[in-house]
Amino acid sequence: MRIVLVEDERELAETIKKGLEEEGYSVDVAYDGEEGLYMAENYPADLIILDIMLPHMDGLAILKNIRSKGVKTPVLLLTARDALSDKIKGLDTGADDYLTKPFEFAELVARIRSLLRRTAEVKEAVIRINDLEINTASHEVKRSGKPIKLSAREYSILEYLAYRKNTVVSRTEITEHIYDESFDRDSNIVDVYINYLRKKIDRGFKNKLLHTVRGTGYILKEPDR
Ligand code: CA
Repeated sequence: MRIVLVEDERELAETIKKGLEEEGYSVDVAYDGEEGLYMAENYPADLIILDIMLPHMDGLAILKNIRSKGVKTPVLLLTARDALSDKIKGLDTGADDYLTKPFEFAELVARIRSLLRRTAEVKEAVIRINDLEINTASHEVKRSGKPIKLSAREYSILEYLAYRKNTVVSRTEITEHIYDESFDRDSNIVDVYINYLRKKIDRGFKNKLLHTVRGTGYILKEPDR
């Protein structure tokens, strides 16, 4: 999953980026309001983390702007102080959640997961497709109760497909949502990872779950659909 982080405190921004990348997210950072607005509007993010106090344009103005343009990406606001009016304004402007600084990193990650689940209309931390279980909190993957070891990238791709289970996802969408802006988009690395994933998930099982839809993309689906 890909996250746009708009935060002008460089040290905090770097810490959050590094931590989220360790959790398997791809993160693009904007350090001021103008850049933040550009990224929020143009990058195919799954979530936007928006600080309120920013140079050039504040977080609430960015939020108002993107919502008026129909951008529906979930937004998590970061409020510097425990200012009730900022939170109310934020939620009324179309934020999905907020977090007051200073916060524990673990809470930020838990809220991100919760927002991503809400968007995907997944209620629980564990996504199930037939006998495949993907725990989005612990990143454990099991098939028929047996643990499957995946690399961080393999997991990211599987999780992205799982959030959109029973739907065809294009290679471009996977690339855009798994990698940040610095990634070489011409590379065929996604196909390589899909092949690894297919071996780890489907090999030895009668019911295949991960399918290639020729000329379109990939789908993770229940065998009877
Ligand atoms: Ca700030």
